[in-house]
Parts: sequence; structure tokens; C-alpha cells
Amino acid sequence: MKHCIVIGGGIIGMCTAYHLSKAGHQVTVLDQSDGQTGASFVNAGYLTPSHIVPFAAPGMVTMGLKYMLSSSSPFYVKPRLSLDLIHWAWNFYKSANMAHVKKAMPIIEKLNTASSALYHELHKNQKFNFHLEKKGLLMAYQTQKAGDHEKEVVLAAQAMGLKVTSLNPEEVLKLQPETNMDILGAYHYHCDSHSTPHEFMSAMKSYLLEQGVSIHQHSQVLNIKISGSVITAVETEVEKFRPDELIIASGVWTKALLKKIGIGLSLEAGKGYRINVHEPTGISVPAILMEAKVAVTPMKDFTRFAGTMELSGINTIIRKERVEAIARAAKRYYPSVEISTNSKREAISGMRPLSPDGLPYIGRANQYSNLVVATGHGMMGWSLGPITGKLCQQIIDGVNPDFDLAPLSPHRRF
Ligand SMILES: Cc1cc2nc3c(=O)[nH]c(=O)nc-3n(C[C@H](O)[C@H](O)[C@H](O)COP(=O)(O)OP(=O)(O)OC[C@H]3O[C@@H](n4cnc5c(N)ncnc54)[C@H](O)[C@@H]3O)c2cc1C
Repeated sequence: MKHCIVIGGGIIGMCTAYHLSKAGHQVTVLDQSDGQTGASFVNAGYLTPSHIVPFAAPGMVTMGLKYMLSSSSPFYVKPRLSLDLIHWAWNFYKSANMAHVKKAMPIIEKLNTASSALYHELHKNQKFNFHLEKKGLLMAYQTQKAGDHEKEVVLAAQAMGLKVTSLNPEEVLKLQPETNMDILGAYHYHCDSHSTPHEFMSAMKSYLLEQGVSIHQHSQVLNIKISGSVITAVETEVEKFRPDELIIASGVWTKALLKKIGIGLSLEAGKGYRINVHEPTGISVPAILMEAKVAVTPMKDFTRFAGTMELSGINTIIRKERVEAIARAAKRYYPSVEISTNSKREAISGMRPLSPDGLPYIGRANQYSNLVVATGHGMMGWSLGPITGKLCQQIIDGVNPDFDLAPLSPHRRF
């Protein structure tokens, strides 16, 4: 049994704690927040075997440049002089090609499918009560251009064995009879499931506490002590922990922590927003509103509209024009849905940890014998939480991991 310290109580840190504890280790989770904020509470709750295309794909560079100066567009890069951003953008540019997409697609699909299965396995655990539904995901489009674009992804997904059907507006209405969508059509990916993030996180916390995991909130790790190639201690303002193994799963903050111990990681924050609507919407099937790039999820007791990708550094500042853009998109696709001023006022943001090539970083850091890095999951961190946790446990236990970890190495070249 090892004493494993996990820095970060988001979905990645908590799932890692789950698998380490299940394997018999003593686990301590340290989180600087109140354990109720951050990307893992803001996301759309999708478990997405359907999302086979990495964020770094052809077309994204042009789209980024096109949208760069529009503060209400779905994708926004705040122009700023940052060497880290320039370095990340260069790596992103090098990855946004078909050769990389072809290599990454099967990796992403397999990781997502395995992770989704782990969520469903957890759901069967009587002690672990949370909302999980498998109704698939609609990729809904209003223009033929968007439909044709998605058709290419559909063909690739079908070639991988995923079930996808093409629906006209009447068929969508049949599937979801309580609200009408103003669309040209939709592709229905049957493989996806959805959940309610804050409910899962709270169930996970209770479960881990019951299993003897120690969870310290409002505990920001300020220093990491080393001796040669060994991490010897982790310090917060008031406590000092001596780990046998340290797992850094600190989302967008991972880069700064690693920098303290001489490790460089190409990582940027991709800010997104969510609006919760507590009034009935009639929406019962999750959908991505393709042209607007807004994700819609019928969660437990409310509907969530989530979107935008804003590269503006580490901050959770709410830009009202972005929230308005999400609300306007909702109205365009669901004419009967009303988003109140109150719902918009209560919108919050979260930051996706973005690697430049759209693949997560999961693996041991070469420089230290007892350090594992788990971050960079970008738009798929919610979906990939459980499989990441399992892989971290396998790395620490020295057993053959379920997946080839070379493409996920924190030291990979772009
Ligand atoms: C709008 C939006 C929609 C999304 N939708 C989806 C979706 O539908 N499906 C999907 O799969 N993914 C989705 N994502 C992405 C997903 O939410 C993220 O990839 C995921 O939550 C990242 O989890 P994490 O644990 O790495 O990071 P976080 O959730 O950010 O957790 C990191 C934690 O580390 C803690 N921390 C940081 N530094 C320190 C320190 N020094 N000491 C102590 N603690 C520290 C922080 O307090 C934080 O709690 C979405 C994201 C957004 C923003």
C-alpha cells in the first residue's frame, strides 16, 4: 500500500482517487477550492464516444483566425503577448492536420468507449447514486454546410462501428415530442450518455470519504519539495504531506505546478460558460447546436446550455456578450425556449485544460520516479475521467496499462 497524494479534486483527480483507493492505496486529495467550482462542475455532462475528432483538426486554425476578434463568437482567442501561448499555438498549428486526426481518432474513441463503460459500471453500484442516461447525442444543423461537414465525421464514426442515424426534423420531433427544433436535420449518435456533473461529483466525494479517502478542500499546494529524482513533500499553507506517489491532476493550473519542479508542459485554458434553465424546456435528448457550437443537456431537474471556447489565459471572468450569444443560439434552435434574465445572470464559467494536439497527458514524468501527470483533457475531461483514473492506478501499480500510453505521454513531441 502506498500513500498517494492527488493534487486536484476535479473529475480527473477524484476518479484517480477512486481507482487508487479501490486498489488498496491510502489516498489524500488536496484541492484549493470549495470543491464545487471549476470545469468539472460547469461542463455539459456528456460521455462522448461520438467525439472522435480532436480539437486540433484541419479548419480550426482558419476558424480561430476568423473569430479571433469577435467577442461574441463561439471561439475566441484574446490577442496577448505570451510566450507560452505562442508556443502552444505553434504546437496546435503543427497538430491540426489530417495525419494527426487519423492517428488520434481511434485513440480518442477507444478511451471514450472504455470510460463510458466505467461510468455505467459505477452506476450499477448501489452505494453510488447518480443521474446517468443513454439517449445518444443529436448533432443538429440549420445549414446544409454544417450537415455536410458532420456527414464526414459520421462516415468515420460508422467505420469505427459507432451507430449513427440521420434524422429529418419530423423524426427529431418524434424522438423529442415536447419541443420543436428549428433545424434542417440532425445526426443521432446512439453511443453517447449524459449525466449531471455536480450531482456526480458530490456522490463521488461522499463515496470516497466512506472508503477512507482523505479530502482537503481550501488546500492550495504552494510548494513541491524534491530530492534528486524523488518528490519528497507537498506543502500547503498549513500542512505538509510526504507522498510515496504524487499525482498532479490540477486542470489548467497543472502547468504552473509542474514549472515549480522544472517540467514544461504545453497547456492553455479554454474558457466555457454554462447557463442553467430551471423552467421546463421540453428538451429530453442532448444536442449540439452545430453552427452555434452550443451543447444542450437535459440534466436532473434543469436544462443546461453550455458553450464557447475562449483562450484568454487563466481567469473565470464572465463576458456578458458570450452568455447572450449562447442564449440567442438556444432561441434560434428551440423557438419555444425562454432563457430568463435571472438564468443568464447566474451563468458561470470553467476552464478546459487544452493540450495542443487534443489528446490528454497521462503518464509518469521522466524526471521523477514518483510523479504522475493527468491533465490536458480539453473538451473531453468529463467523459475521460474514469479511464484516466484507472490508467493512473495502473501506472502506479506497475501493471500493464489498458492502453498504449506513448501517444499520451506528457513528454511527447508535437
Ligand atoms: C462549458 C464546458 C462544457 C464542457 N462539456 C464537456 C462535456 O460535455 N463532456 C466532457 O467530457 N467534457 C466537457 N468539458 C470539459 C471538462 O469539463 C474538463 O475537461 C474537465 O472538467 C477537466 O477536469 P480536471 O479535473 O482536469 O480539471 P478541473 O475540474 O479544473 O479540476 C482541477 C482542480 O485542481 C484544483 N487545483 C488547481 N491547482 C491547485 C493547487 N495548487 N492546489 C490544490 N488544488 C489545485 C482546482 O481547484 C480544481 O478543482 C466541458 C468544459 C466546459 C468549460
